[in-house]
Amino acid sequence: MMNIQKNIENLKIRIAKSARDSARNIEEIKLLAVTKTHSAELVQIVLKNGLKCIAENKIQEAKTKLPELQNVYDEFHFIGHLQSNKIKQLMKLKPALIHSIDKISTAKKLNDFLFKNNLKQEILIQINTSNEASKFGVEPSKIVAFVDEITQLSNLKIMGLMTIGKFTSNETEIRDNFKKLKEIFENLKRKNLPNLEMKYLSMGMTNDFEIAIEEGANIVRIGSAIFGDRNY
Ligand SMILES: *Cc1c(COP(=O)(O)O)cnc(C)c1O
Repeated sequence: MMNIQKNIENLKIRIAKSARDSARNIEEIKLLAVTKTHSAELVQIVLKNGLKCIAENKIQEAKTKLPELQNVYDEFHFIGHLQSNKIKQLMKLKPALIHSIDKISTAKKLNDFLFKNNLKQEILIQINTSNEASKFGVEPSKIVAFVDEITQLSNLKIMGLMTIGKFTSNETEIRDNFKKLKEIFENLKRKNLPNLEMKYLSMGMTNDFEIAIEEGANIVRIGSAIFGDRNY
């Protein structure tokens, strides 16, 4: 039997150590519990143990699970690929932040929906820093043009960037992905664009969050280190 409480304690110790080692203030690093594939019952345990920000990557799954949680969470984050035909269902779940905007057409449809319903939405732009064809995300070379277009959409607010590091045991390669995201982040921060506030750098998962914190992450998205391995 996995011990979620113990896992969370250990995880917090590791996050604190990384923050200390890189002279970061732990208060500014948000830990997101990635609850995909896990039952509402298990998610309740996480919430009871003080992790109040949860993340899902599938709207279908989130929409059945979240209502079972009796609203004891503070924030729901959407971290999966967004299909335009799911926008309405996603917005019903009131995401605090959508981490994964990477297509202009989808962003436009989201903006139309928000405009019609008199809503605003905070988003992150997902960037494919590892240059893997299988990954979602905007190519780094296209980011400036991409952000220029998104900032025209007045019901969206860009709050930062997200990436998924390369799945490899080569730490240098992973670190390079995170350094690249941070560099793009700082470049965009220097531009004075409307509807853009470079606040969040969402990077780091179970296998690489320590490197991500060292490279400046202020949101880490953690599943397996809390729940153990996923069974799909
Ligand atoms: C599943 C997932 C995570 C968490 O992964 P772990 O390795 O279990 O920590 C983080 N980010 C995204 C986008 C995911 O889909």
